[in-house]
Amino acid sequence: MSDGKTVKMPMPRTDSVTVAVRVRPFSQREKNSGSKCVISMHSRTTTTIQDPKNPEHRKTFTFDLAYWSHDGFQKDKDGVFISTDPSSKFASQKDVFHDLGRGILDSTWQGYNATLLAYGQTGSGKSYSMVGLGANKGIIPNVCEELFQAIEERERNQEYQVTFSMLEIYNEQIRDLLSRTKQPGGLKVREDQHLGFYVDGLKSVPCENYAQIERLMEQGTKIRTTASTNMNASSSRSHMVITIQFRQVFLDRDLTKQSTINLVDLAGSERQKSSGSEGDRLREGSQVNLSLTNLGNVISALADAATGKKVLHIPYRDSVLTKLLQPALGGNSRTTLIAAISPADICYEETLSTLRYAERAKKIRNRAVVNTSMLMRESKAENDRQWIMKTLPHLLNVNEDPQLTGVLKYFIQAGSCDAGRAASNAIHLQGLGISDKHASFTNSDGKVTVTPHSKCKVVVNGVPIVTKTKLQHLDRIILGSNSAYLYIGFPSERGSEDLTRFDYDFFQLERAAAEGVSVDKLGAASHGDGKADPGMLAVFQDYVRLMPLVAEANQMGEELKKGLRMELKVKNLAASDSRGHELQKEVMVKVTNQRTREVWIWSKAKFINRKFLMEELYQRFLDGEDSHVAQEDDPFWDPVEVVHLGSAHIWLQSLAYSMKLEEQVEFMNCEGEEEAMVHVCVTPCSPAGRACGEEDVVIDPSELLGKRMDFQVGLVRCLGVKWLKEDAGRGIQMGYRIYDLSSTLYTKPVWKMVNPQIEETVQFTALNASQEFLNYLQTNALIVDLWGLQEGCAQLDCSQSDLMVTSEGHVMVDTKKMSTLMDPGQTPSNQISELYMKLLKLEQETELLRDTNRALREENVFLKQSLEKVGSTQQGERISHPPAAREMNQMYTRPASSDREFAKALKLFYHSMNEARGQLLRLRQEKPPEEDEMLRPFVQQQAQKLKDFGDVLESSLWRLKNDVAVIVKKKRASLPHAE
Ligand code: ADP
Ligand code: MG
Repeated sequence: MSDGKTVKMPMPRTDSVTVAVRVRPFSQREKNSGSKCVISMHSRTTTTIQDPKNPEHRKTFTFDLAYWSHDGFQKDKDGVFISTDPSSKFASQKDVFHDLGRGILDSTWQGYNATLLAYGQTGSGKSYSMVGLGANKGIIPNVCEELFQAIEERERNQEYQVTFSMLEIYNEQIRDLLSRTKQPGGLKVREDQHLGFYVDGLKSVPCENYAQIERLMEQGTKIRTTASTNMNASSSRSHMVITIQFRQVFLDRDLTKQSTINLVDLAGSERQKSSGSEGDRLREGSQVNLSLTNLGNVISALADAATGKKVLHIPYRDSVLTKLLQPALGGNSRTTLIAAISPADICYEETLSTLRYAERAKKIRNRAVVNTSMLMRESKAENDRQWIMKTLPHLLNVNEDPQLTGVLKYFIQAGSCDAGRAASNAIHLQGLGISDKHASFTNSDGKVTVTPHSKCKVVVNGVPIVTKTKLQHLDRIILGSNSAYLYIGFPSERGSEDLTRFDYDFFQLERAAAEGVSVDKLGAASHGDGKADPGMLAVFQDYVRLMPLVAEANQMGEELKKGLRMELKVKNLAASDSRGHELQKEVMVKVTNQRTREVWIWSKAKFINRKFLMEELYQRFLDGEDSHVAQEDDPFWDPVEVVHLGSAHIWLQSLAYSMKLEEQVEFMNCEGEEEAMVHVCVTPCSPAGRACGEEDVVIDPSELLGKRMDFQVGLVRCLGVKWLKEDAGRGIQMGYRIYDLSSTLYTKPVWKMVNPQIEETVQFTALNASQEFLNYLQTNALIVDLWGLQEGCAQLDCSQSDLMVTSEGHVMVDTKKMSTLMDPGQTPSNQISELYMKLLKLEQETELLRDTNRALREENVFLKQSLEKVGSTQQGERISHPPAAREMNQMYTRPASSDREFAKALKLFYHSMNEARGQLLRLRQEKPPEEDEMLRPFVQQQAQKLKDFGDVLESSLWRLKNDVAVIVKKKRASLPHAE
């Protein structure tokens, strides 16, 4: 209707979209990780969200309804969540239905179309509100039930027809959830002049009572679950649309009223933002979320139009979902949006984006009219099959989506039977990594056993099995890469246990634990109180969540013969910054081509993006379509790149005392293992590059304040580079950045040598050493990064072209003062830097002149004194032995030479301290080789003690330095007076 034309809005007598927000309780996972609630609702319409990083920063949104379902509830005897007391503001399923569901029913009776959309990130509670869980029925079943109740109470001279259809949109393909046969490529959306867009060939089943609808929904959910495992696609990425056509025929008036109710459980909104795959070459490739992204575009355009902006085009036609929802969005429908949100601080960004989305949707204006025409074709009903063998032991599917868990049952009949992909198996299972004949189950003598077929992956209670294994009631079984089942034993074994405990998370945590992954292991540097730090918990959650995905990606790669190996790693697991503080950790995926040994490091976001693309490709492969892709479109492929191998810490303290440092330091990789050694020299020197000697050592770094400091950083040699040991064809580069240097300095690439000679020295100059710079030298390490080069990768730029250099060509550091002098608005910056150089030179010359002047003045005084003394002797006064000039000199030099010895001793001391510090750092990074329950408290205690020891060491060092500085100052001050 509005396609291609200017849309003029608002219209008179329009309906705006009703928007409700609902916040759910904490999930078990959120409770475990100590989440905080960032949502508050102070009235029936306002929702306030607080930024966890900046608690004063709050934003309040006003919508038609705000539902607080976070706390203040309890379970009644039937398992229904109800308010704890009348004062509780808790909103139950009934409350939500009362407001939103009733509104839909009212519209329907009046003959209006109605649409209900649930929007929010995965796990925020969309399906809970729409469909419900167990005894807590959602809006959809309640609407259907009440519709039929009302029909039964109506008069007899009217006829009612209800039809039901259920579809899923995944990857822009429509699947009929009431049809067992899958149409290759999915059903098509067609357009009719009168009907608008409709799905061609979709089953629409007439229903006469609520029980029929309930059965259809069950059947549809079952097909959705099977499809989700077959296609290896998660339900969180598909949209589910239930459509109820309601026709009222008024026999006495020859009139029909027709209404369409669309109930839409949208895909998880989290992949909406493009940053989800930031920096990935194949970012635009995936279609998986096209519909959701486009829904956002349509809503934005409509919101703009409603606020009076000129909008030329509403992109309904750009995706399947928006075509189907066209009446609901700016058209003939009364539309309601439920924005489902998580209360947890870690979901802050997503929740905020959901609330903003809802705010935009609020602005849309629709024009609903009463319909008197019939819209849909009808088709035959389909009968559901019975389950009938409840007494047999069976497998229950466990899905990531709680809605799809327990939907499929596989009975294990007496005797022996095979399970696998082949349709001939008694237990016909599909899923990634499941073979034609995957395992066999035996049910005899009141026992059930499972035996994997050769090389097929079967995991029981987290542990992979290879031989016949007896199953016990509630055992957890994973077949293939990630198809999870709960084993339900014989009735005699069953109790009244709560099966919901064994959810998807339970399976994954159990598997992770069996593979030796735990918070403690990842967060060895937990706080002394035994609680892992929240950042670490988040990484652990990510790790556990990604583990099965990586397994799936590996399986797809294997079947598509990509020859890749993907491994989950934690970035910076054992790395620290230049001050020795731990760095932020995040999950990443290391990808290795097993044939060429090429290596890539993918961020979590990139991996997730790639996994979607892999699934699309894999689906084509399963469908028997051509799964060949050009290299540049292949989600398994990337151009090779430089890989970060590890970092070395070189503590700079000695430089603050003008002392040379020469060391061999380890490059540690992200896991704290040694990757190589580097031989480095950090040498204080003269402007001309002559190394300073012992006489230049200072006792107090503040002596260097305001002076010119020159020093050289020399990378002499790398030793035992593992990267090159693994594959001799590779190369390395090193890079570092000191203090305020604007860019990283890289060494020239060296190829094919395990112990490459580097011999690269750079001289740095601080023209006017600032206090901050001196502080930096005393407390920071220079971090040298080791980068791995592989054949065909772009090297790191080692031209050093964009650095500021002195007239001698040395790289300038500590230039902050300089930048405050610059005013880039007026003069080009190179001109300023030239001017500044001149100024500094003048300053230096003045300083020199001042020094000469001082020396001359002192000499003058001295000569005057000598003269006076000589004069007085000549005048006959009795002074036995006037000190000769040579002796006078000695008087000056004696304290100077003891000073030098003092300085020498200090230098030795600081040097050995440096080594001690390095050792301490390494000790702190050391971890026991095995995770051991008994050892854990001891290890934690030891880590704490080491940390305490480090703190004591640092503070005594600091005190020593201060004391020495004070003594030296005092001594200096008293010297001339003594004279
Ligand atoms: P989504 O469909 O958005 O991915 P779900 O509806 O599956 O999310 O909800 C995720 C989990 O949170 C489920 O276990 C669900 O039972 C629970 N949940 C969601 N909303 C509520 C609520 N209002 N009260 C109780 N539990 C809820
Ligand atoms: Mg859901």
